[in-house]
Amino acid sequence: MELKAFAKINLSIDVLKRREDNYHEVRMIMQSIGLYDTINFDLREKGIKIYCTDPNVPCDERNIVYKVLQLLKENYKIEKGMEIDIHKRIPVAAGLAGGSCDAACAIIAASSLWDLKMTYEDMVDIGSKVGADVPFCIKGGTALAEGIGDKLTQLPSLEGIHIVLAKPLIGVSTKEVYQSLKIDEIVIRPDIDRLLKAVQEKNIRYIADNMVNVLETVTIKKHPVIEEIKRIMVEFNALGSLMSGSGPTVFGIFDTHDDAEKCYNRLRDYIKDVYIVESVGEL
Ligand code: ATP
Repeated sequence: MELKAFAKINLSIDVLKRREDNYHEVRMIMQSIGLYDTINFDLREKGIKIYCTDPNVPCDERNIVYKVLQLLKENYKIEKGMEIDIHKRIPVAAGLAGGSCDAACAIIAASSLWDLKMTYEDMVDIGSKVGADVPFCIKGGTALAEGIGDKLTQLPSLEGIHIVLAKPLIGVSTKEVYQSLKIDEIVIRPDIDRLLKAVQEKNIRYIADNMVNVLETVTIKKHPVIEEIKRIMVEFNALGSLMSGSGPTVFGIFDTHDDAEKCYNRLRDYIKDVYIVESVGEL
């Protein structure tokens, strides 16, 4: 069984509070994009065996795919195993939910190959136990994520937006960024309610012009290159530009493919990992 695991960007992120269990309550607008890993899942007699084309991704019990499959095996008392071949295209530790979308595909594949008969709610529930972005990645498209990211409200699809992604040569730990964030000192927050209205109206210009990610201040302080990429994107006619997740990937939204291409060509001289993609709808 072959599945595509689509990356996401955040069209805005607000962090409301730190909970006692150290998780953070957030309000985020999530959007799937056409950059994906291709994953093959095959039944085997027992055990979980993972292969990945990217040597930076661990293939043992540290892999989030392994974690979620192991959890499913225990919960559903499954004897059978699975072989998983991950063709990685999504940059790792980039703020694009590369691991989370692989895990979401693993849940879908396991439900089918191990005949678990899971409902969408069962999938969200198990996904939230291995990563806050996994529940969104099960359906993808455009959604509001609240709670720790697991309370989802599906929104009208914003597919077909022209996007440029640029990932500087640094990896960022999501955990460290959240730990360094001083919630009481956040100065500029996104107006999520107003942005939701703009999503309903498919007002891409308003969204692009008013996106805010409160995690930017933490990551940009450490990696000023993020600010520089944002500046170049705007100089090359981006309607708006923002860091995705906890970074370091920066994305720009463009009115036309032509505009996106000009910016892509400019950034390519400067940064290795640059992509032109479109936003995609529900999976
Ligand atoms: P998010 O936006 O959800 O915070 P991210 O894009 O910042 O995710 P990932 O690409 O998911 O980060 O990688 C985070 C860490 O998870 C990496 O250090 C990587 O080694 C580990 N990891 C475990 N399993 C996977 C996987 N299947 N794909 C990518 N990374 C994985």
